[in-house]
Amino acid sequence: MHYRKIGNKGDEISILGFGSMRLPIKGSNFEIDEEKASKMLIYAIENGVNYIDTAYFYHSGDEKYDFGGFSEIFIGNFISGKYGFPENLPEKTPESFRENIFIATKLPIYLIESKDDALKIFNTQLKKLKTDYIDFYLLHDVKRSSWKTVLDYDLISFLKELKKEGKINYIGFSFHDDFELFKEVIDSFDWDFCQIQYNYVDTKYQAGEAGLNYAHSKEIPVFIMEPLKGGRLSGEPFPEIRDLMEKSENKRSPTEWGLRFLWDNPKVTMLLSGMSEPEHVFENVKIAKEDKKLNLEEIKIMKEIQKIYDNKNMIGCTDCKYCMPCAAGVDIPKNIKFVEEFDLYGLVAGVLWSYKREIKKNIAGSNCIDCGHCLDKCPQEIDIPYIMKRSEEIFES
Ligand code: SF4
Ligand code: SF4
Repeated sequence: MHYRKIGNKGDEISILGFGSMRLPIKGSNFEIDEEKASKMLIYAIENGVNYIDTAYFYHSGDEKYDFGGFSEIFIGNFISGKYGFPENLPEKTPESFRENIFIATKLPIYLIESKDDALKIFNTQLKKLKTDYIDFYLLHDVKRSSWKTVLDYDLISFLKELKKEGKINYIGFSFHDDFELFKEVIDSFDWDFCQIQYNYVDTKYQAGEAGLNYAHSKEIPVFIMEPLKGGRLSGEPFPEIRDLMEKSENKRSPTEWGLRFLWDNPKVTMLLSGMSEPEHVFENVKIAKEDKKLNLEEIKIMKEIQKIYDNKNMIGCTDCKYCMPCAAGVDIPKNIKFVEEFDLYGLVAGVLWSYKREIKKNIAGSNCIDCGHCLDKCPQEIDIPYIMKRSEEIFES
């Protein structure tokens, strides 16, 4: 595993971080398949991953719980040794486990209506994670509306206080808005790190490459989320892209092209992959341990691939599920996926067949009642009701 330095206390984090937003589940999103997920995490840690990222509401169900979601609870149990200890720990104890793993979680800004709320949520997170400190603590999903809340309740002073008390070690934020706001946020505080969406398709999206360069120029480490665009860049590529990838003398999987693009850039400190199958962990870990940078010919190929995507006009859903649940029962990301496939391939038999198999009547876009509740929750600012209408027109009529 490769590591990159962070801060001035000698900490080094693995270039691959384990995102726990898409852990394997048994049925509903709050029923984490603990046995499978813990094996995946242990494998990752035994192979050098030392950073686990979670958030207050990851793996929440349709019901609203006053403690958020189940991801933090699972991670708390995991680092306490409930599922066993990785072989490479100096000692097989919860203390040793905690000391050797960096835990990141996030403050859900949208739930904050007072400074007391922030403290209440933070204390709940400590309990869920069975720890008395968080290594990396982020303001979750900073965008124009949430940034106003941060300023209104002076949440930065709140974070500074937590750091002073030794309850958090590094202060950061995860970001989903344009470069202009990103610059404003970066300039407003001496951040320890920041987290942006970035991959070879999204270089001009949200903070994008300009944001990466700006944060780096201020010596703020940048962590990457959605490195493979919610798994979109790791599946079977479009034929013209596959042909380009095959031109390279090195046989690289689509995942490797995506991850290499990021790791080859020294301005990227770490990337988070939301792994939901053991195969994802095996492949990502293998690539992270290798040192096979893209060569000059491959960098040219990558530019060609990016041009093709630029012309494709994708909707941009990353399957984060922040928009869910929908009051009318619509499975929003699944419907978007099929509209996107229609835009790319047309109503070919394969697309129609998969739609019929995966989209049952009760979750179809045609159920959308245009209530608009999902709109503000989508970090990608997708016009969801409009896309649901399109899904109905394409697949139901
Ligand atoms: S606008 Fe449509 S898709 Fe969005 S929450 Fe309302 S019913 Fe669901
Ligand atoms: S529509 Fe937006 S909020 Fe919903 S899954 Fe896609 S990107 Fe996430």
